[in-house]
Amino acid sequence: MTDLGLPTVRERRIPTRIGRRYLVRTFGCQMNQHDSERISGLFEEDGMVRADDLAEADVVLLNTCCIRENADNRLYGNLGQLKALKQEKPGMRIMVAGCLAQKDRETVQSKAPWVDVVFGTHNLHRAITLLDHAEEWGPVTEVWEETASVDEMPSVLPTRREVPHSAWVTITIGCNNNCTFCIVPLVRGREISRRPSDIVREVGGLAVEGVVEVTLLGQNVDSYGRDLAINGRRRPIFAELLRTIGDIEGIERIRFTSPHPKDIKEDVVVAMAETPAVCEQLHLPLQSGSASVLRAMHRGYTPERFLEKLRMAESIIPELATSTDVIVGFPGESETDFQGTLDTMAEARFDTAFMFIYSPRPDTAAAGMDDQIDRAIASERFDRLVALQRRITLEKNTALIGTEVSLLAEGPSRKDPKRATGRTRGNKIVHVLGEYEPGTFFDAVIESAAPSHLMGRSVS
Ligand code: SF4
Repeated sequence: MTDLGLPTVRERRIPTRIGRRYLVRTFGCQMNQHDSERISGLFEEDGMVRADDLAEADVVLLNTCCIRENADNRLYGNLGQLKALKQEKPGMRIMVAGCLAQKDRETVQSKAPWVDVVFGTHNLHRAITLLDHAEEWGPVTEVWEETASVDEMPSVLPTRREVPHSAWVTITIGCNNNCTFCIVPLVRGREISRRPSDIVREVGGLAVEGVVEVTLLGQNVDSYGRDLAINGRRRPIFAELLRTIGDIEGIERIRFTSPHPKDIKEDVVVAMAETPAVCEQLHLPLQSGSASVLRAMHRGYTPERFLEKLRMAESIIPELATSTDVIVGFPGESETDFQGTLDTMAEARFDTAFMFIYSPRPDTAAAGMDDQIDRAIASERFDRLVALQRRITLEKNTALIGTEVSLLAEGPSRKDPKRATGRTRGNKIVHVLGEYEPGTFFDAVIESAAPSHLMGRSVS
């Protein structure tokens, strides 16, 4: 039972809100987007249907993120807009979930008393129970501690996926690392792994529904299963999970994000190479190419060690497409440190990179560090890094001209409806003349390249 005296176990129930309309607004990462799909699944299990816009919604849920800059301002800006709507439509229910709700807990309703329900990342399965409570008794906040166990959180929830042929599957939540720039361990808590049997059952069900591609989600997928060694039994490991999911009929592509450079080992890369469904794609977050900055970030590797891991993976899977995350302007980063990042990026030659200018997140260790870098200096470095990576990406894309690739169709191109957009196993976007049903596979020859996409000609 919870503090509110409500049962914690999720029970399937008779739908009670048939025809009421809901709208979910999501901020932040893939994990949050997937959580929103699951909350939407719970709403629809209760009989609700999706609203096209705010004005027609009876229930509005904001699934918040605290990683992006000014997250609070964005939340309270949205809540201000909702306050005005609720005054016109008093029956409207407003719910706030996600990382900011988990972190700030009681303060959301004190700052915005018109919010009906606040809940966190560890009890999203209770969305309907809490909504019932609010409708009967008034506003409610319920946030579970980040120490909740795998037994307390239902592993499988109904899901309303945005894309029918492709699905995210969470394998772990939380993180046991303490990177000094990151708020995730504070918000999502210690790492909790889902049981392999639950994950395999979920992926099997997705395959039956027609899903052909799954992306496994975890803050650090390499440490999957560390908390699941029960009664001295050998713990499940990520490499085995990849192989097992690779055996599920109907699943043609498997991706995962993210491994941690300090933890990724050969067994995972060998499992990737030996499991045909696992795509030849690896996202390995570098963050910085300076040993001293990496030390200040608590990343647990040096640039040299990082490059060794990358070369190990590329030697086992020669056609591997790689990507990374980089932060520019971390506190204390000197010009020499930044040059180390440029050198490491030039040597690594990632296919693509997600690059960010550092900005402090409240409650993180890095936010309190001396020697914060002037924004203008960080911006100038950022521009140099982007120019370098843009050149490398174009070179790598250009090298694909004339090769044949297998594409998973995603739908018509947004810029040119005469073309279809497909994605390679290496996660590159290709535009091809013609129409292809989303979720189907077809082959194409690459004819031209740009930094952000490729153009191709269908050959199937
Ligand atoms: S590994 Fe580091 S950056 Fe990634 S979630 Fe954990 S603490 Fe954050």
